[in-house]
Amino acid sequence: MAVFNLRAYDDHEQIVFCRDVESGLKAIICVHNTNLGPAVGGCRMWDYNSDEGALIDALRLSRGMTYKNAMAGLNMGGGKSVIIGNSKTMKSEELFRAFGRFVDKLSGKYITAEDVGINPQDMAVVNKETNHVLGLEGKSGDPSPVTAYGVFTGLKAAVNHRLGRDDLDGLKVSVQGLGHVGYYLCRHLHEQGAKLVVTDINKESVDRVVDEFGATAVDTDDIYHQEVDVYAPCALGATINDNTLPKIQASVIAGAANNQLAEDRHGDILMQKGILYAPDYVINAGGIINVSFEESYDQAAALKKVDEIYGTLTEVFDASKSSGRPTNVIADEIARQRVADAKKV
Ligand code: NAD
Repeated sequence: MAVFNLRAYDDHEQIVFCRDVESGLKAIICVHNTNLGPAVGGCRMWDYNSDEGALIDALRLSRGMTYKNAMAGLNMGGGKSVIIGNSKTMKSEELFRAFGRFVDKLSGKYITAEDVGINPQDMAVVNKETNHVLGLEGKSGDPSPVTAYGVFTGLKAAVNHRLGRDDLDGLKVSVQGLGHVGYYLCRHLHEQGAKLVVTDINKESVDRVVDEFGATAVDTDDIYHQEVDVYAPCALGATINDNTLPKIQASVIAGAANNQLAEDRHGDILMQKGILYAPDYVINAGGIINVSFEESYDQAAALKKVDEIYGTLTEVFDASKSSGRPTNVIADEIARQRVADAKKV
């Protein structure tokens, strides 16, 4: 496999292939860019079909972290790591300690945290071998409510830009996915008088939001064609694709999920249809912003920084409107420029 020729390879600074025979660890750490600071990004544990699939995932995710951190105005670069294996059957103290030693060898160039398949207990084990860990229990806490608050803030910016209104009273919002982030987003929206249409594959999560916030529940396949003002994807990625696009009735898409567009070209189609898309890595940065305050945690300061998502998105929307180019393209350009400017400094 020629790594430097892979499409997902984007001038990444460093890629570390980690192997520890005793514990069975196979991991990849990708440091995409450190112009703005140490590469920060979570560690994902996933049963990849192939090593190449794991590498491509780590390359893409680490690049995404560079853009997310740059757009959030953080002095942090972008990195990500993946542990190859089944998170239900292959976890052990030895495995996470071995991973921690590899992280430690990078001397702070890469700082790890939780991601899919990894929980706070796992990170506590990693922390026995290295201090280069963020998001530990008892520090900045669960990032999800802060991510939800950031999405709520960004959703208001999008509604203001597209619908010309500051209040959410009576606004119809469909929320797909009522997990850690989706639930808190529903709570914010309900408190501001929005009408919720919701779905989740987990019935208990749906029942809770119906009971607590008077939401209307629909089947998972029916969420796209709801006649709502805003569609908030808060479950999986790639829900904006060739199949779902013709169904979407909302004029704003603003949600927490990562990688919402199946392909970049779907951002062009959204613009042509007059649907305002809040780029995912800009609107869902609340969690990483919160974690960035961990050293001497101050929740009020973290939330103040999260409030900046409103202005950042407005900048993206205005530039998109004046240039006639999609919001996802504009966000990528601004992020790349910030990273390049940091190098000059
Ligand atoms: P979660 O796993 O707690 O919640 C996801 C929810 O989506 C679950 O309730 C699940 O049942 C539901 N779901 C799965 N497939 C579905 C489907 N086909 N239709 C409807 N519902 C479905 O995850 P989370 O922490 O709430 O994160 C939600 C999204 O936001 C993810 O894409 C995540 O990557 C992204 N994100 C989360 C954070 C954070 O701080 N937690 C930060 C940035 C981005």
